[in-house]
Amino acid sequence: MALINEHYLKLAGGYLFPEIARRVEIHLSDHPEAADRLIKCGIGDVTEPLPEAVRQAMHRAVDEMGARESFRGYGEPTGYGFLREAIAKGDFQDHGLNIDAEEIFISDGSKTDCSAILDILAVKGANRIGITDPVYPVYVDTNVMCGNTGVAKEDGRYEGLTYLPCTPGNGFVPDVPGDDEPKLDLIYLCYPNNPTGGMITHDQLKAWVEYALKHKAIIFYDVAYQAYITEPNLPRSIYEIDGADRCAIEFHSFSKNGGFTGVRCGYTACPRKLVGWTSDGKEIPLHGLWSRRWSTKSNNVAYIIQRGAEAIYSPEGREQVQGLVDFYLENARILREGCEAMGMDVTGGVNAPYVWIACPDGLSSWDMFDRMLNQANVVITPGVGFGSCGEGFIRISAFNSRENVVEVVNRMKMLSSEKLGV
Ligand SMILES: *Cc1c(COP(=O)(O)O)cnc(C)c1O
Repeated sequence: MALINEHYLKLAGGYLFPEIARRVEIHLSDHPEAADRLIKCGIGDVTEPLPEAVRQAMHRAVDEMGARESFRGYGEPTGYGFLREAIAKGDFQDHGLNIDAEEIFISDGSKTDCSAILDILAVKGANRIGITDPVYPVYVDTNVMCGNTGVAKEDGRYEGLTYLPCTPGNGFVPDVPGDDEPKLDLIYLCYPNNPTGGMITHDQLKAWVEYALKHKAIIFYDVAYQAYITEPNLPRSIYEIDGADRCAIEFHSFSKNGGFTGVRCGYTACPRKLVGWTSDGKEIPLHGLWSRRWSTKSNNVAYIIQRGAEAIYSPEGREQVQGLVDFYLENARILREGCEAMGMDVTGGVNAPYVWIACPDGLSSWDMFDRMLNQANVVITPGVGFGSCGEGFIRISAFNSRENVVEVVNRMKMLSSEKLGV
C-alpha cells in the first residue's frame, strides 16, 4: 500500500485565488457585458515585456548551444560562475557588502528556494517558526507540506506556527518577541513587503538580527522587491546589518525587477559563516548542506536563462530594468495618491509595487472585493487571504498597464463619490 504525505491534506490553501476566480465567474455570468471592461489588479504578476538586453543575451546563448565548440551540457549545480560573479559584485560588493560568488546559489526562483531550504533544517516541529500575518502564502504552505505544522484552525492559522501580527499599530513590521515569549528558531521576513507594500527600517531589522544572534535563530530574508526601494537609508539587504552573515539567508528573485516571472531565475545568498546546530549542540555551517542539497537534487537552471539573468547586470540591462521598475512605481504612485485623495488609509506604493488599503465604511476584505468587482469591474486581492490580520484590508497590484491603473482610480472615485449601496 503506497502511503501519501498526509501533510498535504492539511493545506487549507489554494483557497484565495480559486475563490477570487469563482466570484469573478459568477459576476461575468450575471453581467456578460462587463467582460470587456474587467480590470485585474489581483495577482502579483508583471505585465511588461522582457528587457532587450536580456532577450539579446538569451538569443546569443541559444546560438552558442547550436555550435559544437560552444555547446554546453550540464552546468554547475549551484549555477554558472559568470552569473554568481555578476551577482556577488552587482548586488553585494558594489554596495560594500562582503558576499562572494561561492556564497551565491542560483535557482529557478524564490518559490523553489522557499521550500528547498527546509530540506536542510529539522522538520516536524523541531524548530519554532515565526511567520508574519499577513504573509506571502508560500512560506506557510511549504511548512505545512513538510510536517512543520498541525491542522488549520477556523481563522486559517495553522497549529504549530507562531504568527507575528503586522498591523497599523506596528507599522506592518512585526515586533521582536519579548523575553517572556517562546524563542523562535526560524523567522521569515520580507521587505519591501508583499502584501502590505511596507518597508522595514535599519533599526527594526537590526533588532531582528540581534534577536536571531542571541537565540541562535535563522532569518529567511526575502528581498524579491529590493529594486523597488526608493527612499534613502532603508536596508536593501539584511547583510547591511552587522552579524547578519551569521544568522540570515537572503532570497532574491529576478521576477519583479527583470520581469522573469515566466523566464524563471533567482538565487539565495548563504554566507559561509552561517551555522545551524545539531540536536546535541554541535555547530554546522549551512553552506555545506545547501551546496550538497543542490548538487544532489538539481542540475540548476538552463544556461540560456542564466545568460539572460547575467545581462540584468550589464549597463544596458540595469538601465532597462530601472525603466521597468520606474514604470510600475509610477503606477503605484497613481494608485496610492488616487486612493489617498478619496480619503482612504493607504500603506505601500512607495518602496513596493503594492498598495494596501484599509477598507472604507468598515467593510470586510471580501465585502470590499465584491463592491469593487460588482460596481467597478475591478478585481483586487482581499487582504484576509494573506492572513487573519489582513482582514479589513485589500491589496491592489501596480503590475498593470498605465491605462488600466488610471482607469481603476477613476472607477474607484466614482464608487466613493456615489457611495453606492454596501
Ligand atoms: C513574487 C514573489 C517572489 C518571487 O518568486 P519567484 O518564484 O522568484 O517568481 C518571492 N517572494 C515574494 C514575497 C513574492 O511576492
